[in-house]
Amino acid sequence: MPDSKIFTDICKPYCLEIYYGPMWSRKTLNLLIDIDRLKQKKIPYQVFKPRIDTRYFSDYIVSRFDSFVDKPMEDTSRFLKEPAEVFDENNPKEILDLIRSDTRAIIISEIQLVHPDIVRVVTSLQREGVYIICDGLNLDYTGEYFSLGLTNLISRATHPHSLYAICNFPGCGEAAYFSQKLNTDGTPAAYEPERAKRLEIGDYCYEPRCIIHHEVPGRPEL
Ligand SMILES: [Zn+2]
Repeated sequence: MPDSKIFTDICKPYCLEIYYGPMWSRKTLNLLIDIDRLKQKKIPYQVFKPRIDTRYFSDYIVSRFDSFVDKPMEDTSRFLKEPAEVFDENNPKEILDLIRSDTRAIIISEIQLVHPDIVRVVTSLQREGVYIICDGLNLDYTGEYFSLGLTNLISRATHPHSLYAICNFPGCGEAAYFSQKLNTDGTPAAYEPERAKRLEIGDYCYEPRCIIHHEVPGRPEL
């Protein structure tokens, strides 16, 4: 049974810390900062990511935070990153088989892509005194919740952190809590009533927007 002492700033046994927000809100950067502190304190940790997330690197978690990096865009060494073990997003119990006996902190990225069974996995690890740190996109492009798993975890988190990006609408710059989906001609993508279809890959681009500039034509009025 790990020490509790309530908890410390660096390692919080039995706790669930979640960073959530729209794209570009520095979710992964926050994970990397926490990992850096675990490293400094020599606290054994493991990092996991869902197999479906193959952006940039298949076996690293990657932050695009690079304001201070003077390298060309195509140079992937410009990204901050940390090696990660990959698990099947449809079977998050795989994580339990990969955990080493001395691990005291577990980091799981992109939780919104994972089956809702992740809630049971996280809860059982918390009960064993493991410190869990997660991140995820809480809302899809329509402004509705992205996944039941992440939504449930946010409501159970001992340390939830709502992050924001900067609105990309020309001339705005307000705090952005939404991800805007745009068609190739720059017009806002229409509302898709079927949740499963919202994640289909297509010729779209995305950018963070504030509540005023987040547009979803055809979305039912609240
Ligand atoms: Zn705005």
